[in-house]
Amino acid sequence: MKFALLKDERIEATKGAKGICPSCGSELIARCGEIKIHHWAHKKKCDDHWWENETEWHRNWKNQFPSELQERIHKDESDEKHIADVKTSSGWTIEFQHSAISREERDSRDNFYNKLIWIVDGTRRKTDIKQFDNLMYDASTHFCNCKISNEPLILRIFSGYWLERFRLNQEWGSSKSLVLFDFGKSEVSYRDKYSSNKDLWLIHPSKDRTYITSFSKDSFIEMMNSSHSDEVYKMLLNPIKTKLIEEAEQEEKRIQTLAKPVRQRIGYIIGILRNRKEQEEWFDEFDEFDIKVASKILNNYVEALIRQGYSDEDIEFRLDGKKNNAIIQHKWTAWTDSMER
Ligand SMILES: [Zn+2]
Repeated sequence: MKFALLKDERIEATKGAKGICPSCGSELIARCGEIKIHHWAHKKKCDDHWWENETEWHRNWKNQFPSELQERIHKDESDEKHIADVKTSSGWTIEFQHSAISREERDSRDNFYNKLIWIVDGTRRKTDIKQFDNLMYDASTHFCNCKISNEPLILRIFSGYWLERFRLNQEWGSSKSLVLFDFGKSEVSYRDKYSSNKDLWLIHPSKDRTYITSFSKDSFIEMMNSSHSDEVYKMLLNPIKTKLIEEAEQEEKRIQTLAKPVRQRIGYIIGILRNRKEQEEWFDEFDEFDIKVASKILNNYVEALIRQGYSDEDIEFRLDGKKNNAIIQHKWTAWTDSMER
């Protein structure tokens, strides 16, 4: 804790000073050692267990804001109160989270503060930046075009190996507040020579896809310190929302009017299957072939690929592979099973 109360004044820790906790009102001792940053410590445990012992990272972030905005008491309607790391003039709470936090606790803070932004320390575990790098690399080599916008940088990624192994996303993806990761001095690079250690990163999951976008730390600090702090939220999320709507419309359009080469391939596969039934060989079991079922399965397959961001060329390529599948399967049910998988 940086500030204690002394006769209603907020004071910083100096050797020998005494003060009381602005949240629980109990006595505090100034800790002014050589190693840790100077801070106030509770004699007895604080009632407000939400605040954490500060690291340098934590204190540095808080100090980007004027002291009167730091460690502000926030009360809700039921008079529950907590110390917010920073509370801006337009009512945004910013919490700087270094240590691990349980989902329950995170959720209760999400609910307590109605306008909350988390800044999460992405340097605490060495593996986090590695996992994020892998994810960025995955986004740059993925079969589909994952970069959907340059200004602002927006990447779209579908669930897959690296996303599932990105632990920060597992831990924070379900937060209903805005969560920004700070990877400190680590450079984050992307294929078009985009490289920066001056950004905060937002990982925004939405239905079947996840968006990644960046925001300069300097602008974030500047805007949150100004009367434009509501803009940060909009600047981060509005481009993503727009993309989401655009993509959904495009996908719907593609599904409704499948490209001709795609339709032709579907027809061709159905033709193969029908032939298998008509010219039944002794080792084939295609009696149950049903043109409606075959058509539905193939259309669902194509629809799933479209929703996964596959281009028409990719889909044609995949359907060509499925042509062979229709030739080599000896059983109708084996074919339906493999397609439905
Ligand atoms: Zn206390």
